[in-house]
Amino acid sequence: MSVLILVEHDNQEVKSSTLNTVTAARQLGDDLHGLVIGNGCAEVAAAAARIDGIDKVYLVDSAEFEHGLVENSAIVVADFARSYTHVLAPASTFGKNLMPRVAAMLDVQQISDISSILSEDTFIRPIYAGNALAKVQSSDSIKLITVRTTTFDAAAVNGPDAPVETLDSSANAGLSEFLKHDLTRTERPELTTAKIVISGGRGMQSGENFQMLERVADQLGAAVGASRAAVDAGYVPNDYQVGQTGKVVAPDLYIAVGISGAIQHLAGMKDSKVIVAINKDEEAPIFQISDYGWVVDLFDAIPELEQALKWLLSFKFKPTDIISAHSRNILYWWEWECSSSKTESAEELNTIDREAAEFWFDSDWLSCFSWCLTEYAHFDSKIFQALSFS
Ligand SMILES: Cc1cc2nc3c(=O)[nH]c(=O)nc-3n(C[C@H](O)[C@H](O)[C@H](O)COP(=O)(O)OP(=O)(O)OC[C@H]3O[C@@H](n4cnc5c(N)ncnc54)[C@H](O)[C@@H]3O)c2cc1C
Repeated sequence: MSVLILVEHDNQEVKSSTLNTVTAARQLGDDLHGLVIGNGCAEVAAAAARIDGIDKVYLVDSAEFEHGLVENSAIVVADFARSYTHVLAPASTFGKNLMPRVAAMLDVQQISDISSILSEDTFIRPIYAGNALAKVQSSDSIKLITVRTTTFDAAAVNGPDAPVETLDSSANAGLSEFLKHDLTRTERPELTTAKIVISGGRGMQSGENFQMLERVADQLGAAVGASRAAVDAGYVPNDYQVGQTGKVVAPDLYIAVGISGAIQHLAGMKDSKVIVAINKDEEAPIFQISDYGWVVDLFDAIPELEQALKWLLSFKFKPTDIISAHSRNILYWWEWECSSSKTESAEELNTIDREAAEFWFDSDWLSCFSWCLTEYAHFDSKIFQALSFS
């Protein structure tokens, strides 16, 4: 099999979606080539050449490709594709924009959003918002595939460097023109690659209320997402949207706040490792797929969560430390505190809890964090009153 991988990038760095695509490609063949199309992106090609499994990188570097107009780059890809049995791109906006054009130019059927590979011509892909899995077999001589990146691990990037061949190629379809980029600038991690995502739904009631989630996100180093209802209501921009018609995410921890759990939303987040739902309606469908559920009014819960995190961070633990052990100890401490009516200085408590943490717990932080959330609910918020002494 000869396999071509379309490298997603921004002329500066390779997007992580490419690493997942390489892992999928490795299941199809041993001779993997990467194709980098852009402008002033030699460093991208060099970085792509260090991805494990890539045997050669082609670089097409020209001004027409500066802004990723697919009307131009599709011409190059279609030309390249004729020499390969499989052409793979991530099922991101990049791949979803580019591949249908290439498929039309080559007169082949695109195979979209595959989640596993059964053989060189047979693939599994989710349909009906992930409620069913279709087995798709293709008899096309060139298989144009987009890859659901959350279902394939990222390939490692430790070389050795594959050769990079620069081709003198340009293509201007004359169909489109770059006007401007209107980007949301954020210091937070990118939604699709963040390890923690906190998303808000219609229950947030306004864009201003999303600031509550942003503050929690900043404490946890998380990205902020949203349901389509929240986007449609104008609370947040549409690049926040998670779901069937938004972004597909699979973070270590997904916190859904004021989101009911419609199938179209679940389609974009149900592969998350740990799901925490905060909703005042105990019948909300989101609880059926959540690992930890907190039935509570979010306008009580989120400020409390923010306060608790602030307090926890004041001990100079990193978020991961806090969640691995410290939050549990706080619960123990709180029980003890209530029973003995004794107070400790923050410094003393820090020492005690650090020792106790080492002694008592050695479990993963995500489970503990989620557990902690449910415990907060269990203690009916009293824990936060107890914590406010500091
Ligand atoms: C073709 C198609 C594609 C779609 N694609 C997407 C998609 O990509 N992503 C997506 O998200 N949706 C998508 N949808 C829309 C989807 O069907 C739902 O309408 C949407 O997900 C609902 O968003 P929500 O959960 O925020 O709102 P709602 O369903 O209205 O739920 C709001 C929730 O907030 C809770 N709540 C309210 N107030 C509070 C409070 N004070 N405290 C705690 N909880 C509170 C309520 O109990 C409720 O459960 C799509 C629909 C279609 C037809």
